[in-house]
Amino acid sequence: MILGRRGSAAVADFAEPHPAEGELLVDGPALGVCGTDREIVEGEYGRAPPGEERLVLGHESLGRPRGVGGNPIRAGGRGRGDCPPARAAEALAKADRAWLESLITRRVPLERFEEALAKHDDDVKVVLELGS
Ligand SMILES: [Zn+2]
Repeated sequence: MILGRRGSAAVADFAEPHPAEGELLVDGPALGVCGTDREIVEGEYGRAPPGEERLVLGHESLGRPRGVGGNPIRAGGRGRGDCPPARAAEALAKADRAWLESLITRRVPLERFEEALAKHDDDVKVVLELGS
């Protein structure tokens, strides 16, 4: 997405990232699409990171940790913390899965991402499936 340029949303390939020490590498099988994403796509909101022209959509990402600083994560080695994301992850892990699934009103494959960005009146949560 080139910010401020309506209709510039596109699917693009990026080089495999190489996380530095302390950075987390995450596989992203899906992401939620919300009103903020729609505002960004319409050119009404958002800014690219410093030094970048494009903004990658996906602030509601579902992630599967793959490694930290180039080292794979060991099974059972899930990190715990007392930060807000850790508390949110813990609460979601305890939540009623069927109820959570009922909030997803549409699942859209990546090749049809423009459909996910179009708001439907009965949308609660739209999920864009990335297939990784
Ligand atoms: Zn959002």
